[in-house]
Amino acid sequence: MAIRLYNTLTRRKEEFKPQEDMKVRMYGCGPTTYDFFHLGNARTFVLYDVLRRYLKYRGYEVTFVQNFTDVDDKIINRALEEGLSAKDLSERYIREYYQDAKDLGILEADVHPKVTDHIEGIIQYIEGLIAKGYAYESDGDVYFSVEQFAEYGKLSHRNIKDLLAGARVEVTEIKRSPADFVLWKKAKEGEPFWDSPWGRGRPGWHIECSVMSQKYLGETLDIHAGGTDLVFPHHENEIAQSEALTGKPFANLWVHGAFLNVDGEKMAKSEGNFFTVRQLLEKYSGEELRFFLISAQYRHPLNYNAENLKMAAASLKRLHDAKDNFAYWSKIALERELDGKEKELLAKLKSFEERFIQVMDDDLNTADAIAVLFEIVREGYAILNEQSAKSLLLETVEVLKRLSAILGILREDERIDGDFDSLLELVLDLRNDARNRRDWAMADKVRDKLLAMGIVLEDTNSGTKWKKTQRLD
Ligand SMILES: [Zn+2]
Repeated sequence: MAIRLYNTLTRRKEEFKPQEDMKVRMYGCGPTTYDFFHLGNARTFVLYDVLRRYLKYRGYEVTFVQNFTDVDDKIINRALEEGLSAKDLSERYIREYYQDAKDLGILEADVHPKVTDHIEGIIQYIEGLIAKGYAYESDGDVYFSVEQFAEYGKLSHRNIKDLLAGARVEVTEIKRSPADFVLWKKAKEGEPFWDSPWGRGRPGWHIECSVMSQKYLGETLDIHAGGTDLVFPHHENEIAQSEALTGKPFANLWVHGAFLNVDGEKMAKSEGNFFTVRQLLEKYSGEELRFFLISAQYRHPLNYNAENLKMAAASLKRLHDAKDNFAYWSKIALERELDGKEKELLAKLKSFEERFIQVMDDDLNTADAIAVLFEIVREGYAILNEQSAKSLLLETVEVLKRLSAILGILREDERIDGDFDSLLELVLDLRNDARNRRDWAMADKVRDKLLAMGIVLEDTNSGTKWKKTQRLD
């Protein structure tokens, strides 16, 4: 079975085949660092992360590059407002990006290049485009001449004639054609600038991704990913620049993630209907936010509201509880042979993993993959308990953990399971001492406090047992 992914370029699902056997060169457009990123942005970053984790699980060696756009109009304007330098402002939000990304369980890219570290390469790239007749200088700016690139529009499936007809007819002596886009911008008073053959200025937005992706991944990428709002013009322009210069395909597979919606509208800074991840982290864990974001397949619409987030958090808790309960039982269970039903579950665990692979192979269907996790939980609860065979309990936990890790959930680093268990044992031990002293008030107090934390105690002849309850809120 091969992984099949939807390619925006060809508008169909395709079997994924990297250029080099089992090696993947993948690029994703990163944030513009003028603010915290919002949950809609996070959906895209989590998509990159799940795709990367899944490719690794399927045996690929993945090199992933995600840039920081650290010079841009928005950064310059925000820096002016806040009385900071553009550099200080973007450095701050790069740090904030790493913090929120970590909370969301997003692994760091192999390279996180910044535009400001690649100005020389960008200038050389633009010089190459001018030398080949694809770009021209005009009053200190440099533009890409869209009409020179015959395949312009192939990603967004737009026709250049329609584009030109639809473009506002600007009275401009600067651009030769309204569709031309800027590669290098002349610096205005007070803006950050770099010296170039065309005077002081800075790069346009699109050129950075061509330069940085190719620098670290080569002339042709296996996968270029981004949010669907980047298809046009950003990615269309990346293709034009790159293929004009190299004469080779820029990216074989274009993966685009759908928007996160709020009441049917795209969550966007420009719409003002956004919630930053940092804001939401006050109410939800990063893992809960992530779980919500992957609860729909990446090309399907996903609607943000408090109810949907709460439901996702409750579902995630059920997975955690199941894993914790199975793990706890495995500690007290006896080592014995599997009985008939247990053998059946063992065989089913294998088929669940196969099913998980099947749905993820089919254009990364995380929604169905999560459903598989719940099938494991349901089947597990149906036959597992403290008396089950230890090896089966351990295997169930293993499979749950392995598959969850591909989705970036039930991550060990977020929880202190081992510490938690020993702490709880200590508390139960102390409560037991109280019971032996007939200090029922203390014993009850401990029981009630634990219950309020979602841990229910049961006093049996063979000692006190505990399990986690569903959270009440
Ligand atoms: Zn980009």
